[in-house]
Amino acid sequence: LFGYVGIEAVLDQMRRKTIKAGLEFNIMVVGQSGLGKSTLVNTLFKSKVSRKSCTPNYEEKISKTVKLHSVSHVIEEKGVKMKLTVIDTPGFGDQINNDNCWDPIVKHINEQYEKYLREEININRKRRIPDSRVHCCIYFLPATGHRLRPIDVEFMKRLGKIVSIVPVIAKADTLTIEERHEFKERIREDLTVNGIDVYPQREYDEDPEERVLNDRIRESLPFAVVGTDKEHQVNGNKVLGRKTKWGIIEVENVAHCEFANLRDLLIRSHLQDLKDVTHDVHYETYRVRRLNESNP
Ligand code: GDP
Ligand code: MG
Repeated sequence: LFGYVGIEAVLDQMRRKTIKAGLEFNIMVVGQSGLGKSTLVNTLFKSKVSRKSCTPNYEEKISKTVKLHSVSHVIEEKGVKMKLTVIDTPGFGDQINNDNCWDPIVKHINEQYEKYLREEININRKRRIPDSRVHCCIYFLPATGHRLRPIDVEFMKRLGKIVSIVPVIAKADTLTIEERHEFKERIREDLTVNGIDVYPQREYDEDPEERVLNDRIRESLPFAVVGTDKEHQVNGNKVLGRKTKWGIIEVENVAHCEFANLRDLLIRSHLQDLKDVTHDVHYETYRVRRLNESNP
């Protein structure tokens, strides 16, 4: 009926516009203190995501994190720029009483939604609203080899309602392969039993194809990660790793740990989806609640 009109040219336009606008992506790390959160932030920036980009005086020394602290780097690959921000948080568990230890985290997440909402309802809106919303929260579980602890259940239950959570097993180098495997299985069970919805949430799979892909990820959660801030020589190559008496644990080697799987999920395969879920689900929930409050 119709001749060829060339609608697909819109794809090039979208591509160009996206490249021009640049990407913004914000990750937050959460969990008890001492689990290696700050180290993993360091690892992420030192690993392949940023090796080629300019990361000048990145803070090398990891000291105890005492307050929420954001680090941003602009990463550029093939002309595409991404501003990656990681929000490091002080861990809980230092106090005798851990009641409400999630308050500062929840507050920060909601404050970013509020900022976005205010920009959105302004009469004179910016053409592009700066996006400081937390697109993903990496939740660190101690490698106890047992089950989820009550504090983790409680924390993740609350967080899961406002942000996409990706759970990880911290310092996975302290578990044997078998222990790791069994621990992962038990954690998945505990997440289900406690009704904790981690990313990628099953209900937001868009089609059967995506479901198959995401099922594979869901079956491999939580990622067992190892972090480091040191490079070592292995067969003449510089690798990020932890040197032990028995050898070097290479953090980017998938045979050693699942850091690369985590990074691929966040930066490579699911970045846009994490942004979409943040906007369409978590921010939307916040927006509806806030607007209902102000117009009863
Ligand atoms: P945070 O309190 O969660 O930010 O933890 P830090 O990043 O400050 O790390 C606490 C300690 O754990 C430091 O001594 C790190 O060198 C060590 N550490 C960090 N990541 C790992 C890991 O993957 N494996 C092991 N064995 N130790 C780690
Ligand atoms: Mg820290």
